[in-house]
Amino acid sequence: MRPPSYHIVVLPGDGIGPEVTREAVRVLEAAAEAFGFRMTTEVHPVGGAAIDARGDPLPAPVQQACLQADAVLLGAVGGPSWDHLDRAQRPEAGLLRLRKALGAYANLRPVQVPEALAEASPLKRNIVAGTDLLIVRELTGGIYFGEPRGQDHRRAWNTMRYTREEVARIARVAFTWAKRRRGRVASVDKANVLEVSQLWREVVAQVHREEFPELELEHYYVDNAAMQLMRDPRRFDVVVTGNLFGDILSDLAATLPGSLGMLPSASIGRRVGLFEPVHGSAPDLAGQGKANPLGAILSAAMLLETLGQEAAAQAIRRGVETALAEGVKTADLCWAGERPVSTEVVGQFIANYVRQQTPVTP
Ligand code: NAD
Repeated sequence: MRPPSYHIVVLPGDGIGPEVTREAVRVLEAAAEAFGFRMTTEVHPVGGAAIDARGDPLPAPVQQACLQADAVLLGAVGGPSWDHLDRAQRPEAGLLRLRKALGAYANLRPVQVPEALAEASPLKRNIVAGTDLLIVRELTGGIYFGEPRGQDHRRAWNTMRYTREEVARIARVAFTWAKRRRGRVASVDKANVLEVSQLWREVVAQVHREEFPELELEHYYVDNAAMQLMRDPRRFDVVVTGNLFGDILSDLAATLPGSLGMLPSASIGRRVGLFEPVHGSAPDLAGQGKANPLGAILSAAMLLETLGQEAAAQAIRRGVETALAEGVKTADLCWAGERPVSTEVVGQFIANYVRQQTPVTP
């Protein structure tokens, strides 16, 4: 039987984007070797790099290449060189257009605080060590897109709206990931005040009852969810919520590991998913070999998981844990007295670890 083959479009972007994606690709290549699948990659400019090369943050051929790929791996976009441009011409506009073109309605952000990193967290070790949660945020509906919206000289207004279908499809994403994890979903809303949230709660409960009765479902009001994320983050497995609440809660949860550089994300919807670290292009670090590549490497693990290569994804995650436990880390994760290593050394360590995992059976 022929080994499975995947075509990945890589969009390094700007600032530290190229440095961190280079390490993520190194680890993906190691995983392909060790776990017996084929992978081809195609690199394109996006964001500021694409503005400089082709005058557009998402040139049509790049979008086309993404739509034809099996998955897209992105670094980060933006930087001071393009800050003077109009909003629609700026690097971030390219990213928004890409998410839209891919029909990405679900944003997945895992947050883990391994023992080795607990000291870096702003919370106490005994509260945060061992946190392992996944925030599933609805990305294309809710108050950010609802009509009517507008303002006149006296008032301004926005509309929060969700259809049953929109809620049901994001609930399915959350339950499906919970099944692969510890089987628990916390749905977050404001059903004591908002009709939209009452519909949200009703539909999530229905999807649970009819399609995933073996899993556990709890409902939280958003204010309580925010408090519990800080008081007791280990209570959460999968958290599912709408666009506005998800925006806030995912940034709140991102503070738990102590460095933005650690956090991966995936935006999924139709056939092709977009995988990218949560951090931006960090112009202050670009070109110095100091950027933490773990967010990009863990995004690559999510990419493989989504393509069905779960064992390879697990091996990458174990490689990350081993690197942290052995002190192979960039400056953002180091304490006084610890010696940081470069972006490349972290990538090489994890690629070597993955390569030694499972021998390929011919
Ligand atoms: P940022 O995430 O780039 O940086 C915030 C801070 O975190 C900086 O001190 C930076 O040095 C540090 N940091 C970020 N990533 C790191 C890593 N991998 N390793 C070590 N330290 C890291 O956010 P910002 O400074 O607000 O934005 C810089 C540029 O990135 C802006 O142009 C912004 O628009 C853009 N941005 C892009 C994305 C994206 O591409 N998805 C997201 C956020 C910001």
